[in-house]
Amino acid sequence: MNEQIEKLIKASQAIKELLDIVALDVQKNCAHEECYECTHEASQLNNNRHKPPCRICLECRLAEAGWGCGYGLLKKSKVIKTINRSELYQMMIPGQVKQTIKLKRIN
Ligand SMILES: [Zn+2]
Repeated sequence: MNEQIEKLIKASQAIKELLDIVALDVQKNCAHEECYECTHEASQLNNNRHKPPCRICLECRLAEAGWGCGYGLLKKSKVIKTINRSELYQMMIPGQVKQTIKLKRIN
């Protein structure tokens, strides 16, 4: 592989790891005062494919699905605006999209 590309790939991976560490630390210490929410989305084809309502904190970008017993960390967060699902996904911190939506809480 080209040496310059290889160096940039390594630097990019280091930045992603650092972003993940910093984001998790900020999220642990955030009061999650205000959030945006997207509503539940029913599947047209399969009842098992419903998409849950989700919230995202405006400060730390922690995202949660409000499925089952409801929200955890964002339960008391004030919903400022309802947005669509793709807008909410675009607000998430890169690399945390899958893990934060699926996990109920970050320990
Ligand atoms: Zn927050």
